Amino acid sequence: MSFSDTVGATPLIELRALSRELGRRILGKAEFLNPGGSVKDRAARGMVDDAETRGALKPGGTIVEGTAGNTGIALALVADERGYTCVICIPDDQSPEKIDLLRVCGADVRVIPAVAFTNPENYYHVARRIAEAMPGAFWANQFENTANRRAHELTTGPEIWEQTGGRIDAFVAAAGTGGTVAGTSIALKARNDKILTVLCDPMGSSLYNYVNNGKLEPEGDSDLEGIGIKRLTANFEGAPIDRAIRATDAQAIEMAHWLLGHEGIFVGGSSGLNVFGAVQIAKELPEGSTVVTILCDGGQRYLSRIFNDAWLREQGFTQT
Ligand code: PMP
Repeated sequence: MSFSDTVGATPLIELRALSRELGRRILGKAEFLNPGGSVKDRAARGMVDDAETRGALKPGGTIVEGTAGNTGIALALVADERGYTCVICIPDDQSPEKIDLLRVCGADVRVIPAVAFTNPENYYHVARRIAEAMPGAFWANQFENTANRRAHELTTGPEIWEQTGGRIDAFVAAAGTGGTVAGTSIALKARNDKILTVLCDPMGSSLYNYVNNGKLEPEGDSDLEGIGIKRLTANFEGAPIDRAIRATDAQAIEMAHWLLGHEGIFVGGSSGLNVFGAVQIAKELPEGSTVVTILCDGGQRYLSRIFNDAWLREQGFTQT
């Protein structure tokens, strides 16, 4: 078995304390147990496998990507395994833990000032230009490259179906690129179109309004990392998402702390948001229903952020 072969087949954890309180089962797909520590291992392996098959990535080549961190960490590890070099552009507002991890994993890390997507200096455009100028470079382009969502259609969704024995009433997840929520929803709907598929969006993202009324309009703001997007990506477009709900950073962070204290599960803010969303949906469903969500990455990546009292105070979150 190679490193890449260990990606996926993650446990589906029953959140027992939460499920008991609700009278409905909440299950979390433990993506933080992937070898690279996040849900993005699946997308990274999928995109690299696809690029190799298409001949877009040749032996000794370079993988270039713009990322909030987790995709970069996953790509850097696949690059180490397969003998590629890796250039990663990351905005400077992401956690220092992820930037350190990228360097340790051997990536050539370019920390880019965080600016809006419409600015040509946004990390996404910088990554594209680096790849265009570099011979032998492959720009993974996780936002528009649908090998990302296909990885979830082929692995995450079928695994959830198997692990629940088809006993699943709803699936809830946030979107960064949209690959996870779209690909998993495609797979689940193909097996049972009665499964309710729900996007749980952070504030500041446009997809909540897009799903519910067709308008790409953001409201508010969020500091949660790796999720929320103001544009429609190829990975999200056309996905069978029934509806969208949203949650605030305070709700997501409070849930991340609650999961640690009551379930022994140490995960980041996007996982907190996902579980918060799963609870909202579960409350609308009959007792005994099963709601599945994603535990995206581990809390260690945010020791200096949502698990740091000084940071929480600075950000105005008084409750921890
Ligand atoms: N949570 C975290 C911490 C992430 O890094 C990401 C990926 N950006 C996501 C959730 C969302 O995943 P996706 O890109 O598949 O929508």
